[in-house]
Formats: sequence, structure tokens, C-alpha cells
Amino acid sequence: MSISRLARAIAESPTFALNEEARILRERGEPVINMSIGEPKNKTPISAILSSAAKLSSGDVKYTPPDGIPSLKKAIIRYTEENYDRVVAPENIIISSGAKQSLFNILYSIINPQDEVIILAPYWVSYPEMVKMVYGVPVIVTPEDGTFHPRMADIERAVSSYTRAIIVNSPNNPSGAVFNRDFIAEIVDFCESKKIYLIMDDIYHKLVFDGYMWEPAYKFTNRDIENTMIISVNGVAKLYGMTGFRIGWAIANRKLVEVMRNVQAQTTSCASIVLQAAAEGALNGLQSVVENLRLGFQNNRNVIVQELRAFNGVKLNSPQGTFYALPDFRAYIPSNLAKDSVELSRLILKKAMVVTVPGKEFGMEGHLRLSFAGSVKDITEGIERIKWVLDPLSPNEIYIGDRKLIRDWL
Ligand code: PMP
Repeated sequence: MSISRLARAIAESPTFALNEEARILRERGEPVINMSIGEPKNKTPISAILSSAAKLSSGDVKYTPPDGIPSLKKAIIRYTEENYDRVVAPENIIISSGAKQSLFNILYSIINPQDEVIILAPYWVSYPEMVKMVYGVPVIVTPEDGTFHPRMADIERAVSSYTRAIIVNSPNNPSGAVFNRDFIAEIVDFCESKKIYLIMDDIYHKLVFDGYMWEPAYKFTNRDIENTMIISVNGVAKLYGMTGFRIGWAIANRKLVEVMRNVQAQTTSCASIVLQAAAEGALNGLQSVVENLRLGFQNNRNVIVQELRAFNGVKLNSPQGTFYALPDFRAYIPSNLAKDSVELSRLILKKAMVVTVPGKEFGMEGHLRLSFAGSVKDITEGIERIKWVLDPLSPNEIYIGDRKLIRDWL
């Protein structure tokens, strides 16, 4: 079978692979705790259900314009005004099947072969793969050891004449870090002056804790939407817990949106009208849905921080947003337990049936990403089980329900 060089070079999505592994184990009746999940557990907001159900029962389910339906664009314009303090035109918006597709379309539309895109570690697993998928070159910038905050000087050093874009994701998946306003102001300034696109992945922007205020990148430029290098990406997946509805959008200058519109028209045609109606319902419905999710995650964050701080040898930067923590497990690597985070994650899954994501996948070896989007019970029990696997002082046997687990690897 002949497979293209490009397709062969694209890695499997590790998070989807791990979720599948967890599903198979659970189906076998194993008491799995999934701490790899990247989605809230809430039910779909009622306004989204009603709006998509109305569309469905109208029986009028057809193609939409490639860049999305006017009524959802209207809701996004209002959302952008409220949250970004920017008034944008419908021509500045393109709606896609998830923020993932928005990001891909952006990269497809701005990258020539061999162009470079700067990605800040720890990064969302899909960024480097997407850059490769458009024949670009991902250039990874790593923060100083022990922090998850990129330094402007390191970014400037990584920039070359081939640099076309920088991707910034704050609040950050996988670290939970929220970058400070000075950094955002500096990077906006830098990109505007160098004519480098600044792709802001704002998908978690309302999931911030402790009264911290997220600020949009637009705040730090005087340029209007047609002249700024900022491209904003957002969607309903994380804030409304609507991951399955697959609706995201990008906001950019009209020219770029027009190009992305052509790209989308020739690939998926448009996002499904039923799902666009659902997103419209969510954006126009009660916004307490988002605040309730945020409060729940903040509470879960407090629980996971407390558990991990009591874990000997594990270092943690407390997440300021999202629903992920990225503790440093290097005290347990390399050792007789594992040689890297992939092996460590495997050991934890095999011995204690807790699913974690290896930090290696996010450019942060020695760490494990733990999602705290689950229940408090799952978080506390999950960490207890990980502790049991790794701590040499743990008892040799424990029971999970009526299952006896034996520590036979030390
Ligand atoms: N960006 C980041 C940082 C994410 O974590 C995710 C989802 N895991 C996405 C984008 C994609 O969102 P969507 O489900 O809307 O495609």
C-alpha cells in the first residue's frame, strides 16, 4: 500500500489513543479512572439543544454558506464585542467544524512549504502536526526549567526570515498557565512590527481562576481588524462543554477570511447547520452555564493541587485556568520505574488503571498531564492510585472494589 510521505509523518493523536485504551479497559469491566480527558462532563446547555432541535425538526437541513450562517455570525459579533472589546464585521468571521479546523485552515492559508511557525512548549499536541501537514516547519520554544511561561527573548532568538506565525494558547493546554499581560503586550507588539501572524488560541479564555482576568490580545494593538497581525480562534467546545458539536471560529482580516472560505468550500463545504444552530443557542443562551463550569473546575483545581502537593517528589505549578495540571514527575524518571513519561504513563495505566497523558507529547518530558475535568472522587482516587504505584513505601497490595492490585514491579 502506498502512503504519502506527509501522511506517514503525522503522529496519531495521543489523547484520542489513550481515551480509546481507557474505553476498552472500562468495557472489560476494569475500574479505570480517566485523567486524560479534555472535555467537561456537563450536559449540553438547554438553549443549544432547543436551538439545534428546532433546526432539525424544521426538516430544512441543507448546506450553509462556507463561512457560516448569518445568525451565528451575529452571535459571534456580539460575543467578540463583549469579550474582546472589538466590533468585527461578518466578513471577519469564519465558522468551522471545531477550533481545530479553524486552526488548520489558518495554517493552510498562510504557510508556504518550509515556512516556520513558532510553537511555545508546553503546547497542544496538534500544533506541530498541523504545521507539518501544510509542509511548514514547527519551531519549538521551551520555557526556563520549572516554569511554563515563555520568555520573549527566547522567542525573538527563534525567529528567522522564514517565520510566518506564532501560536499562543493562554489559558494553556496542557499546563493551565495563563500568560501575563506584559508578555501578551510584548508579543503583540513584536508580531505587529515584524509582520508575523499571531494566532491566539483562546478556546479556554473564560476558564480562569482566583479572580484572574483574561485579556484579549487586541487590547494591546492600536491597529484595526484589517491591519492587525492578530488572528483569534475560539469555539463552544470547552466553555460550554460542547465538544461533540464541533463548532469553532476564527476572526481575522477580510482577505484572509476570504481565502479560508475558499479552502473550506473546497474541503468540508461548511460546518453542519444543525450544529451551527446549537452554537448559536449556546452563545445566545444563559451564560451562567460557563460560570458554573468555571466554578466547578476551580474547586477541582484546589483538590488536585492539594493532592499533588502532598505527593513526595512531585513538583507542581498550580494551574491558573483550564482543567489540566502538568506536574513534574522527574523524581520518578529515570529510575527503575520508567525511562520517560511515556513509560511512566503506561506503568500507571497498567498497574493502577489511571489514564494520564505523557508530557513528552506536549514537548515537556518528565511531566504527566492530569485532567481535573472529572469528579472530585476520581481526582482524589486517581492521585492516590498514582501515589501507590510510585511511592516505594506503599503497601504491597491494595483493593479497588473487590479487585486486588499487587505491587510487583519494585
Ligand atoms: N485548541 C486547544 C488548545 C485545545 O485544547 C483544543 C481541544 N482539545 C482545541 C483547540 C480544539 O477545539 P475543538 O474541539 O473546538 O476543535
